[in-house]
Amino acid sequence: MPEEVILQAQRELPDWDGQGFSLLETPFSGVKFKRLLGRTRDTLRELLKIPDHFHILFMHGGASAQFSLVPLNLLGDSKCAAYVDSGYWSRKAIHEAHRYCQVEHAAIAEDYIHTSTNTAYCHITSNETADGLQLSLALKASTPLIVDMTSDFLVRPIDFEPIGLIYAGAQKNIGPAGLTIVIVRDDLLGRAHALTPTVLNYTYQVEAGSLVNTPLTYSIYLANLVFQWIGHQGGITSMAKRSQTRSAMIYDVIDASEGFYRCDIPPDQRSRMNLCFKLPDEPLTQLFIDHAAWSGLVNLKGHVQKGGIRASLYNAMPDAGVVALADFMHRFRKQYA
Ligand code: PMP
Repeated sequence: MPEEVILQAQRELPDWDGQGFSLLETPFSGVKFKRLLGRTRDTLRELLKIPDHFHILFMHGGASAQFSLVPLNLLGDSKCAAYVDSGYWSRKAIHEAHRYCQVEHAAIAEDYIHTSTNTAYCHITSNETADGLQLSLALKASTPLIVDMTSDFLVRPIDFEPIGLIYAGAQKNIGPAGLTIVIVRDDLLGRAHALTPTVLNYTYQVEAGSLVNTPLTYSIYLANLVFQWIGHQGGITSMAKRSQTRSAMIYDVIDASEGFYRCDIPPDQRSRMNLCFKLPDEPLTQLFIDHAAWSGLVNLKGHVQKGGIRASLYNAMPDAGVVALADFMHRFRKQYA
């Protein structure tokens, strides 16, 4: 979370919007919260230039809930959906989808995803958080693209033309965990399986303005502050430029290290958000993590299934943190190569 946002939230916690009590005590059905919800939606729509025929939903359950909710809500009469297997998180989505439909494994060829005619949609994970791999968003497909953007939402502009639905768990670039943003195209509504719980049904949530039940009021408030913060930083284009420069700073250190640091992802697919790399062996990896922590650089351990190092450069990470990491990597290599 940006420091400015945390400080503003701290100031406003006891008395929100001049009402003499906290947002935590504010009813979701009242005018003040509804106004906040509307402002949050409008700010997001403006930031990402979301066309009017897409609806913005604020849902519960994290991105993992969407692994089930996408097929439950979107399959309609179809018995098949296409999935691109790009790494750890797309495999989680595929695993869950198997419970609801046949899964067609789709491949990307020159920015186009070929699927057979009976697939309801094609699911991709735009940024593989655990693997450090990011897909181009210039992709086109013969069916609506469903994009898990959990770890690179609000970092690059989106062309909505091929998109059917985008979802993103909040905990990377939006706010506290649990809140999930869903952006769904109007013509994909009305196809939910009859057993889809009402609170998890996109159509009902659209009709109720995300207020089928009590929404994550405080998380929505924080998301709104983060959206405003991004706007003040120059918007999505500025976030995109920043992530390009910042990730290049670290990848340059890796590529100039004569194999001491190793990134196995091809350069054109390297993530600008989650930079994954390896050191020559396990003891050196642990030493890197320990020394980094002494220098104030924490949470660098790679994903449990993947090992190595992972530096996550989410929007709220200050530039100074990236510079400090690049410096540290230079010094560590000089000492131990
Ligand atoms: N998809 C991606 C790309 C993720 O990075 C994550 C979380 N790291 C998830 C899904 C799951 O998110 P949640 O924990 O909110 O269910």
